[in-house]
Amino acid sequence: MKIFITHEIPDRGINLLKSKEYEVVVGNAFNKIELIAELKKDRYDAVLCDLNDPIDGEIFDAAGKQCKIFANYAVGFDNIDLKAAQERGVMITNTPGVLTDTVAEHTFALILAIAHRVAEGDRFMRAGKYHGWEPMMLLGTDVSKKTLGIIGLGRIGSRVAHHAARGFDMKIVYYDVKRSEEFEKMYGAVYHENVDDVFASADYISIHVPLLPATRHLVDARRLALIKKTAYLINTSRGAVIDEAALVTALQNGVIKGAALDVYEHEPALTPGLAELENIILTPHIASATEETRQAMSEIAAQNIIAVLQGQEPPNRIKP
Ligand code: NAD
Repeated sequence: MKIFITHEIPDRGINLLKSKEYEVVVGNAFNKIELIAELKKDRYDAVLCDLNDPIDGEIFDAAGKQCKIFANYAVGFDNIDLKAAQERGVMITNTPGVLTDTVAEHTFALILAIAHRVAEGDRFMRAGKYHGWEPMMLLGTDVSKKTLGIIGLGRIGSRVAHHAARGFDMKIVYYDVKRSEEFEKMYGAVYHENVDDVFASADYISIHVPLLPATRHLVDARRLALIKKTAYLINTSRGAVIDEAALVTALQNGVIKGAALDVYEHEPALTPGLAELENIILTPHIASATEETRQAMSEIAAQNIIAVLQGQEPPNRIKP
């Protein structure tokens, strides 16, 4: 059996695949044309791809009929055309769960950093602007006891809410297509049937929905205008959930106080104006990037491939 891995990943999954005596080829394709060329060089039985790879019918056809699975090295799968996969009988899997804690930690790092102006303070120090403690210098905003609005109370959203409620005595309000009364009881959380009410009532709004047609530009100019002027927007889900041009305008005009992003609408490009703003923190899609988690993702992606190649149901199959 031959496995193609589109980019270098931590070794645990590669070693697992090799332990089954599979041949593993690691590629380095930067776009669809390069990926098609790499896939056509050989006949692979499985592909381990990641969120940079636009996986559609042309890619499946380039890989060939013998290729039974595309294992995505991510929990999100908006880079994959599930219908095209289904039409060709290709199995798609992802890596849920193993990155929940890490992404929730990163989300909280962003909440605390934007509220306490950590990145601005760092820039200030490095620019040699610090000449001694001052009562009015770089005043931030408290996090404790404030209201956190969660959009998408799934694995990551509920873990962020847990840290907020248990660690910072925050009030939780949320919106999800599915309501969880159990979660509400456990954390005293309040469900809003209308997502607009979460935007209007929270001091921090954290986005955790998958990117779907229904969530693309869920945060648009109208909803940004609903947010309190003193509130912050945090996004560690997918960039296109926010209309980034509208966000730039909102931040420039003080419509909201600040934002912290790990993901971008036109990744890796930044919407003009974003990087010039002081009241924003930008991290380069690293919310799941810890040694431990990236190894765990590598292992789980390999387990999905092994299951399919052994004729079993993979643990993390995505059904269209
Ligand atoms: P999940 O499936 O457990 O949670 C998603 C939640 O969103 C679910 O509760 C679902 O009901 C809800 N939802 C779906 N459609 C909705 C809609 N239209 N409106 C409101 N709620 C809706 O997924 P997860 O493991 O918590 O991951 C969430 C997302 O985070 C992933 O889809 C992925 O895009 C993103 N992610 C980003 C990184 C990163 O590196 N920044 C890492 C991991 C995951």
